[in-house]
Amino acid sequence: MKSKEKIYHKLMELVQKENVKVDEMLKDHLYTKLGGKADFFITPTSYEEVQHVVKLAKEDHIPFTLLGNGSNLIIRDGGIRGIVINLKHLNQITCDGHSVVAQSGSRIIDASRYALRQNLSGLEFACGIPGTVGGALYMNAGAYGGEVKDVLDHALVVDRDGNLVKREASELDLDYRTSNIPERGDIVVEATFHLKPASFEEIKAVMDDLTHKRESKQPLEYPSCGSVFKRPPGYFAGKLIQDSDLQGTNIGGAEVSTKHAGFIVNKDDATTSDYISLIEHVQKTVREKFGVELEREVRIIGDEKH
Ligand SMILES: Cc1cc2nc3c(=O)[nH]c(=O)nc-3n(C[C@H](O)[C@H](O)[C@H](O)COP(=O)(O)OP(=O)(O)OC[C@H]3O[C@@H](n4cnc5c(N)ncnc54)[C@H](O)[C@@H]3O)c2cc1C
Repeated sequence: MKSKEKIYHKLMELVQKENVKVDEMLKDHLYTKLGGKADFFITPTSYEEVQHVVKLAKEDHIPFTLLGNGSNLIIRDGGIRGIVINLKHLNQITCDGHSVVAQSGSRIIDASRYALRQNLSGLEFACGIPGTVGGALYMNAGAYGGEVKDVLDHALVVDRDGNLVKREASELDLDYRTSNIPERGDIVVEATFHLKPASFEEIKAVMDDLTHKRESKQPLEYPSCGSVFKRPPGYFAGKLIQDSDLQGTNIGGAEVSTKHAGFIVNKDDATTSDYISLIEHVQKTVREKFGVELEREVRIIGDEKH
């Protein structure tokens, strides 16, 4: 990897100057409000800029990491080496017949609301998921019986060589909270959702119902990364945690939510170490009590703090 200064100058040639930041504090960009600094934090404004950065990273052996809204991600307190790419400027949502075409930095909540305004049904399930479209494809986000897999037609991605490529939904191996996007090293830049015409009132009624369910059950008043664990076959993670008397347990500023046992909330300026220690404590307690292994849904990345 080249010196930090050389990389900085190269990035400035590829991406608009104001969109290249050095030693950027990541917690300010994450829904969880956790995490250290990124060596470089860049926010491209076009697919070409994304392609240029991927090609530079490949040529100069610089690691890069995609960051959406950070609502399914815990970044360690030592931060991330190399380039962090955030697509918040790629946030256009448009309509093409019965399809909604969303750039991947747009929020999936906004895509869902946009579909409502177009009288198109299919994205109602996503009306309360606080991630980006890119993050939603990455983990086949879903809720209340719907998931990305049901409505995705195709995606545009920048592949690991920097080429802009179309991937049909069937090529992404979308399954329960997984896809092959990480394996391939793709960056999603755009998604096309195929929806069905329906009345505004019908779609809105479903969205209002789901929003009510979410607001009454989830601790939305605190930063968090949503459900920390996947549903173990034959069980519900939240119920196992509840039955282990773990609700309200805290380590530092992190706490197992008293409202929804599957959530760990950042209650009082938690560090990532607090969060990770609490996750491990929950896994150990549930394993000892019920013999069930809780697999994390949330991803943990970045360096330890030295
Ligand atoms: C209160 C709350 C409620 C939630 N409810 C739900 C729910 O009902 N259903 C559900 O499925 N999830 C839920 N989540 C989890 C989370 O919102 C989703 O997983 C969401 O899809 C993550 O998107 P993100 O943009 O925040 O991704 P991030 O957390 O930023 O990133 C997650 C992963 O996706 C990768 N990634 C992000 N963007 C791209 C891209 N453009 N190309 C390639 N890779 C990319 C990142 O590198 C990372 O590995 C909830 C979270 C919270 C905090």
